[in-house]
Amino acid sequence: MKILVIGQGIGGSVLSFVLERAGADVYLAEGNLPGSASRVAAGIINPVTGKRFVKSWRFDEFYPVARRIYTEIQQTLGLQVWEPQSILRLLQTPEEQNNWSARCTQPDYESYLSEVESAGAWTTLLKKGFSYGLISNAARVRFPELMEAYHHYLLNKERLISQQIKYVDIPQWLTKFDRIVFCEGFRASENPYFPDLPWQMAKGEALLIRFHQNSANAIAQMVKKTSLIAPVGDGLFWAGGSYQWHYDDYNPSEGEKSYILQRLEEMLDAKFDIVDHVAGVRPTVKDRRPFLGESRMLSNVFIFNGLGTKGALLAPYWAEHLAANIFESQPIDPEVEVHRNR
Ligand SMILES: Cc1cc2nc3c(=O)[nH]c(=O)nc-3n(C[C@H](O)[C@H](O)[C@H](O)COP(=O)(O)OP(=O)(O)OC[C@H]3O[C@@H](n4cnc5c(N)ncnc54)[C@H](O)[C@@H]3O)c2cc1C
Repeated sequence: MKILVIGQGIGGSVLSFVLERAGADVYLAEGNLPGSASRVAAGIINPVTGKRFVKSWRFDEFYPVARRIYTEIQQTLGLQVWEPQSILRLLQTPEEQNNWSARCTQPDYESYLSEVESAGAWTTLLKKGFSYGLISNAARVRFPELMEAYHHYLLNKERLISQQIKYVDIPQWLTKFDRIVFCEGFRASENPYFPDLPWQMAKGEALLIRFHQNSANAIAQMVKKTSLIAPVGDGLFWAGGSYQWHYDDYNPSEGEKSYILQRLEEMLDAKFDIVDHVAGVRPTVKDRRPFLGESRMLSNVFIFNGLGTKGALLAPYWAEHLAANIFESQPIDPEVEVHRNR
């Protein structure tokens, strides 16, 4: 089966890998358009979210699949893209500390959450007065490295189409391909083959920082309060992110920069330089579930999108799910079916 995947973010990269492994002849089109979320994301997989530290949707199912697929991808590409990293959670208010302690005693949270006495390698960089929790079974997927290496992998196999695919040309592309899958991130809101989907795109920004203290280079753990700081190699740290549901462009803004700096100020007692400031748009859906399935406007045209704030965790599981639909006509889970009742 000959398949054209449109968009080489984390969604399109993982899906093409899975489709190719299943035996398809896969081509990937990438237009290098501004605003891509995967190019600016930290790629973090965090088992618990929110003020109450609730385990993320179907985490126990998705995480093993993510670990397996990213491990296979790194074997194929010959570089590390899967990086297990714990998260040091800063706890400040009594309410936060109570919620944390309560969660730690629940059996299904035991392998994820624990209380720790010290901030370890972060100690000299953090403000005093916090207590600490530790989030295990977290990880970081190195999005930029993965996408860059996958780009070259496709180039070598002559499977990369370096252009923006226009919607009007889709019928023409269908004369050359058996299936087309759109993985175009936030641009899907304009896709005429999947009209009227309840998108709620969320622009986000982040900073890349470098601490003055050399000891920071040895840190191999993320730290989180409202914002998150993650070591990303070469002594650099990703810090962010922000959320904007209304925006005029895809560019980094002074407003969001100062928001992130304020959040860092709440956590850090350390000097740092800002090395870069980036922005992208998350393909977020109102009900926070992905979109998978075939167009009702044109047969053999599919969507793989809506990865929202959790592309690193969700892409592998749902890529295998869509592959099972395309190759074996397995039904799509109603929770993520693109035509689900809303
Ligand atoms: C600041 C920020 C921080 C984040 N942090 C995390 C995190 O820590 N962990 C996590 O899991 N997620 C995180 N996310 C969310 C994550 O980035 C997304 O879930 C994921 O990147 C979405 O990937 P995607 O492939 O669907 O879309 P995108 O990354 O937007 O990729 C779409 C690609 O399609 C291409 N394209 C679009 N239309 C066409 C066309 N017609 N022809 C050819 N090419 C086309 C674009 O150029 C782009 O490269 C973050 C997002 C932001 C903005």
